[in-house]
Amino acid sequence: MKNDSLVITAKVQIFPNKRQVIELKKMFELYSLACNWLSKKVFQNKVLNQVKLHHLVYEQMRSELGTKAQFTQSVIKTVVARYKSAKSNGHDWSLVKFSGKDYDLVWNRDYSIVGNQLSLGVSSGRIKVNFAKKPLSQFQKAKAKFGSAKVVNKLGKWFLHIPISKEAPALTIDDVTNVVGIDLGINHLATTYDSKGKTDFYRGGIVKHKRGVFKALRKSLQEKQTSSARHRLKQIGSRENRYMIDVNHQITKALTQKHPKGTVFVLEDLTGVRQATENVRLKNRYVSVSWAFYQFKKLLCYKAKENGQSVILIDPKYTSQTCPKCGHREKSNRDKKKHHFDCKRCHYQSNDDRIGAMNIHRKGIEFVSQSDPSMVIEQASVAKVEVNQPDMPTA
Ligand SMILES: [Zn+2]
Repeated sequence: MKNDSLVITAKVQIFPNKRQVIELKKMFELYSLACNWLSKKVFQNKVLNQVKLHHLVYEQMRSELGTKAQFTQSVIKTVVARYKSAKSNGHDWSLVKFSGKDYDLVWNRDYSIVGNQLSLGVSSGRIKVNFAKKPLSQFQKAKAKFGSAKVVNKLGKWFLHIPISKEAPALTIDDVTNVVGIDLGINHLATTYDSKGKTDFYRGGIVKHKRGVFKALRKSLQEKQTSSARHRLKQIGSRENRYMIDVNHQITKALTQKHPKGTVFVLEDLTGVRQATENVRLKNRYVSVSWAFYQFKKLLCYKAKENGQSVILIDPKYTSQTCPKCGHREKSNRDKKKHHFDCKRCHYQSNDDRIGAMNIHRKGIEFVSQSDPSMVIEQASVAKVEVNQPDMPTA
């Protein structure tokens, strides 16, 4: 397996005591003060060379503002970076202002894990705070690299946002041990068919019901037009979103944990489905055009990558009308209302979501068998497989 790297941001809650909160707030204040102080100097002198700037301002800043060595250097780096990015975006010299939220803590310099606590550099030195262990523990065990973190104060709670990169194996065709076709729908949220010929259903009944309830409630609120109704409308939107996020997390987690390393998950490429009304399963529209599908895909890609698995997308054409046994394609093979598939040629019968998963699985198998064994399978790469007129085994 080749290696690839994966970056995510761990949002770690920290629990500073009252005195430490004052320290953190002081740090933000001093940081913004120092950045704005330096920003003026840079603007006046038009100097962006770090070494020159260091000579020009380092001692002065330390004596005038009372900043410590590392803090001073961090301020210089931040200010220079912001001016450079402004210039590279085509802006001419203009004064850059800082709100003080840009303080980057460098791993093992400004922040580190000491025993059970996080040690953070603040303007007066260091503080040690308790933190939520869970988001970090898995990365401490794995070979993960911690990047520059940001201290975030959100509604009175304190967090450290830490970008973490870790090596993840990239799957090649040769590594593939299992292909799982995933049919996403509303009746069953997800239906899968794997290389052992096993079908799994992930029920969507509760979601469907909840969505229906939300829809009715939303409609009645929309009709009211009062400000409290609008507020309530907003709340519902996000509650429904949270629910779908939760469901997506659960299903993608279950899928990636259930299947072994070397699994390729196959999803229908539902991008642009709205335009292509012909031959595409209409029941899936609800999922496909909303953000829920995109999030599902993103989560699956991420979790698959962590587990030495991969995700490909296939053309959704005819996946619901084609018989997975004899290859016969006919619209009336499927009875949408009864969720039933009955092949008009060979009379193979099954649940229609399962048929979808079987056809998606088959397209995945064809992609794998037609590709160069050394080819790295990119996450969610679109498989170019000509499978519209399959020559099917008659098993
Ligand atoms: Zn058939």
